[in-house]
Parts: sequence; structure tokens; C-alpha cells
Amino acid sequence: MAKINQNYLELPGNYLFSEIARRIQAYKNEHPAADIIRLGIGDVTRPLVPEVISGLQRGVAEMGDARTFKGYGPEQGYQFLSEKIIEHEFRPRGVELDPDEIFISDGAKCDTGNIQEIFGLDNIVAVTDPVYPVYVDSNVMAGRAGKLGGDGRYEKIVYLPCTEANGLKPELPGTKVDLIYLCFPNNPTGMTLTKEELKPWVDYARAHQAIILYDAAYESYIQEADIPHSIYEVEGAKEVAIEFRSYSKTAGFTGTRCAFTVVPKTVLAYDADGNGHSLNRFWLRRQTTKFNGVSYPIQAGAAAIYSEAGRSQIREVIRYYMTNAALIRQGLQASGFTIYGGVNAPYIWLKTPGSLTSWQFFDKLLHEVQVVGTPGAGFGPSGEGFFRLTAFGSRENTERAMERIQKLKF
Ligand SMILES: *Cc1c(COP(=O)(O)O)cnc(C)c1O
Repeated sequence: MAKINQNYLELPGNYLFSEIARRIQAYKNEHPAADIIRLGIGDVTRPLVPEVISGLQRGVAEMGDARTFKGYGPEQGYQFLSEKIIEHEFRPRGVELDPDEIFISDGAKCDTGNIQEIFGLDNIVAVTDPVYPVYVDSNVMAGRAGKLGGDGRYEKIVYLPCTEANGLKPELPGTKVDLIYLCFPNNPTGMTLTKEELKPWVDYARAHQAIILYDAAYESYIQEADIPHSIYEVEGAKEVAIEFRSYSKTAGFTGTRCAFTVVPKTVLAYDADGNGHSLNRFWLRRQTTKFNGVSYPIQAGAAAIYSEAGRSQIREVIRYYMTNAALIRQGLQASGFTIYGGVNAPYIWLKTPGSLTSWQFFDKLLHEVQVVGTPGAGFGPSGEGFFRLTAFGSRENTERAMERIQKLKF
């Protein structure tokens, strides 16, 4: 008899987005002509920029010519891309890395989900609350989370609440933890940490021989000068942090798929005898066994981002989304909402008015003004009473949605 992985029974159903879709469909059935504006999705909408398209086309042409055809590439990614990453993403910020500390992959979702495999099952995992669900669910699947309690929290996971009381910035764990997932700029709250605010986390990890798993998927949305783009800008982080980056939100690669993870050779975790092992070697072993690399044309397309024209085209797209974010912030503030984020991130986290729950506010927006967002409670218990809007829509839809929200009555 084949036995299932019993841990999967501890996963909740994919409740959030299916429930949103169900409520939208129910509304549409009653109001077939309704013009619904969606500011809920965490997906980009602008097309790939011309430089990336040229890079992809060059890559495809090379695959069709016997002289330049490529079969299996290096599992870790082509050096032409990792060298550009170091040159443009890290060296200008004072961070020195070797190409073999960069692992090109097909997504930060896979990498943040898979990374836990190289750690023992007895590690204590800490996550912020609210949180990007991948960090929690991948640890549930592996058996590190224990049972899901009635309060929406897993018994073995340490939750770090991000609430209005702490300005939506997590506080250091009060108990000893081993693996800490941090995501800044944050999805869903849109908040960031300064270098001074990030430093105590690196110090904590060094003091406790813990590892920080730092998701910087929204790094390119940072506008303010004092916000670090990489955790390695913080002194000592190269001993304790793994960083995840992605071209998905940076360059519109959500459907194209390319990302990278940085595992410095100096990051160690410990065996049962207390001997340190380089996580770079463990991740390399994991990737070379289970992953065969990102396709050559896609890596050629990603490398094209780093040309002068590519960088300026990408910046233009990010400016477009961040103008949407500013419009959303202004619109919500004019309507009297308390809001967070949207300054260094494409997400705006708003406090639901009155004592409405996240889902009550979702229904009110849908039914009264036909605007869809994401209920904060879907990202964790501390998300209750909050609501996420994204800046990834078109300008026109963003402006129309704000006009409508200003007509809402409470
Ligand atoms: C969108 C997103 C990613 C990127 O995932 P990809 O698999 O690279 O598309 C990673 N982390 C967070 C928090 C995200 O919102």
C-alpha cells in the first residue's frame, strides 16, 4: 500500500485565491454587466522590454545554429549571467561575491520553497505574520511545522507579528530560533527595513548560529536611499544569510521564469557533532541533483537587462508601477484610510475602516464599487483587519479604482 506524505494533511486548502475567485464569480452571476477592476493580483501586467525581447531572440537564434547550439547548461547557470549579476547588483553596493556563490534558477518561489531541504527537520522556523505563504507551506510539507491550531498558527513555527503596534516591522524572536524567513520590501505589507533595522537580525543570527533566508524579490522597487537592496550590505550578513532575487517583478519575468539565489561560501550550518558545513556546497549538491538549469534563451534574455538600454527600459516600467502606487496612496489617504507601504514596494497595505474584517471589506469593495483586492487575513492571523492593493494594474484601471473608492460610504 502506497502511503502519502502525511504532512500534506496538515496543509490548509488553497483557500485565499480560490475564495476570492468564488466570491467574484458569485457577484458576476448576479451582475453579469459589472465592470470589475482587479487590484488584487501579485502579477505584473506590462510587457517585457525591447532589450529583453532582443536577448531572447538572440538566444533562440543561437539554438537553431549548429555552431552555437547548446545542450545541457551548467546547473548553476551560465557565467555570463552570474558575472553581470555581481557587476550590476552587488559590486556597486560594496558586496563582493564569486560567480559560484550565485545560483540561477527558474524562480524565487521554487528556491524559497526548496531551500529548507538542506536543513534538518529539527530546526525551529520563524516567519513574519503576515507572510508570503510559500515559506510556511514548504516547511509544513517537510514536517517542520506540526499541527495547525485553531488560531491559524502551526504549533512548531515561531510567528513574528507585524502589527500597527510595531509599525509593521517584526521584532526579534523572544525564543531561540534556527531559520528566519525575512522578505523586504515586504509582500504583502509593502514595508521595508533600513540597514540599522536589519543589523540586529544579522547580529541575532550570528549570536545564535541561525540562518536568515532573505527574500529580496522586490528590491528593484526601492526608491529611498537609506533602504538596503541586499542583506549583504549589512556587516556580517555573508556569514549567516542566503538571499533570493527574481526577475519576475524586476523585469516582468513572471511568465518567462528566471531568478537567482545567493549562497555565500562563508554561510555555515552545523552537523550533529557541531561541525560547520558550507551551505553553498549543500545547495550546489541539491541543485545539481534535482535541477538542470534555466534554458539558455531565457538566461540570454535576463542578461540583456544589464545593458545600458535594458537597465533604463526596466527602470521605466518600475516607475510606471510606482506611479500607480503613489496614485493609490494619494487616493486612499484622501478618503481617510490609514495606509502602509507603497513607497518602496508595489503593495499598499490598508487598515480596514471601522471594525470591518478583511473579508467584510473585500465584500464591501466588490459589491459597492466593483474593486477587488486581497484580504489581509489570507496572509496570516496578524493580517486580519488589513487589505492589500497592488500597483501592478494599468494606469487607467488604477485611476478608475481610486475614483470609485473615494465614493465609498461608511
Ligand atoms: C513574486 C514573489 C517572488 C517571485 O517568485 P518567482 O517564482 O521568482 O516568480 C518571490 N517572493 C515573493 C514574496 C513574491 O511576492
